Amino acid sequence: MLKATLAKLWHHAWSMILIEMTTEEVGWLFCPGGHLSLLSKRRTAVILTRVRLVAGLFAVLTPLWIVVDMLVFPSDVWHGLAWARVAASAAFGAIVFVKWSIDRSRDAYRALGLLLAVPSAFFLFSYGHIAAFDLHGLQKAIASGYTFLPFVMLAGLSIFPLTLVECLAFALPMLLMPVLATAVSDAPMDLPALGVTIWLLTLIVCVSALAGLSQLGFMIVFIREAIRDNMTGCFTRNSGEELLDLQFILSTRIHAPLSLAFIDLDHFKHVNDSFGHEAGDQVLRNATLQLRRHLRAGDILARWGGEEFVLILPNATRQQACQGLLRVCELGLGAAPDGVPVTASIGVAERVEDNARDWAELVELADARMYEAKQSGRNRIVGCEDVRGMP
Ligand code: GH3
Ligand code: MG
Ligand code: MG
Repeated sequence: MLKATLAKLWHHAWSMILIEMTTEEVGWLFCPGGHLSLLSKRRTAVILTRVRLVAGLFAVLTPLWIVVDMLVFPSDVWHGLAWARVAASAAFGAIVFVKWSIDRSRDAYRALGLLLAVPSAFFLFSYGHIAAFDLHGLQKAIASGYTFLPFVMLAGLSIFPLTLVECLAFALPMLLMPVLATAVSDAPMDLPALGVTIWLLTLIVCVSALAGLSQLGFMIVFIREAIRDNMTGCFTRNSGEELLDLQFILSTRIHAPLSLAFIDLDHFKHVNDSFGHEAGDQVLRNATLQLRRHLRAGDILARWGGEEFVLILPNATRQQACQGLLRVCELGLGAAPDGVPVTASIGVAERVEDNARDWAELVELADARMYEAKQSGRNRIVGCEDVRGMP
């Protein structure tokens, strides 16, 4: 009883925070495994663009501070810092000009890792360098600015749409940076101060992680809405066309069959006219649910128009496609509110057997056969007549 109540409360709390996300999508916030390829691509592009932007900004700003150092510090202090700044600026510049591939998420990790490695190296050097001198007054105040670098880097993580695991993986070395800096420098270790610094850095990591996760969550919902039809959950026509284009190229390259079915629900206007648009929507949702329930993993269902769907069956011969579709039709596509079964007219085409030159031709063929099915009485499949076992 208590367990069930707690589970309900937990579920309620999650759904209040992440109103628009499914359970699977919430999982994507934690680690990148299972992300849709479109999401991975988009995320890689965003991370690389932002890495370049920040690196470009720092390539320009880092050497400018040499002027301040010159005015405040004695020459043996600012000389070393100036060289380090020039080196850091060159490294930032290199990050901007490296040819990163927006198709590889590994490149996003590398670029971000480098972006953090450059200021880390600069921090370790400057910390040790400055600690070797006895500074006072304004010099000490300006020198303390160098210890802020890990804070800036961790706060900077907030501009990247990272998963929780990625954020922690990038943040952890930064958290240890002050410990490492005191260990390698001659400065005495002030444990309470170090503890407070790490505590503050940890708080910043939490805020950065939240900022990154909210960006990622927004991106996940945004991409899903762009590629999926909100009402039925099928792919939209645009994303369906893109997927079909890709499947056509792949099947041609590996000489594999590619079947396609054009599906149009019969007398659907009648459902709307008799029971209202809301009931029509429900019938449409039911029909797609039935279709998707019987698809193989890898089959793609796209909503082409109002009550028209294109089903892409990669690696399926016409015979396999026809048998699958027949099974779907036999099991039914649900019923109208008055109990009358929902039926569909279907046209089937296959890349090799129909000698289609491109995906548009394949769709055209299947569409024409669907029209034939309408003409010859509806509730039937055209393109499968010669397949064994077909009525
Ligand atoms: P046929 O057997 O010849 O295909 O007849 P039909 O009535 O299904 O075909 P028609 O193309 O004349 O009508 C399709 C109807 O589908 C018209 C439109 O109002 C309805 N429709 C399109 N999109 C939606 C939708 O999202 N929700 C609802 N409820 N109806 C829709
Ligand atoms: Mg229609
Ligand atoms: Mg119709």
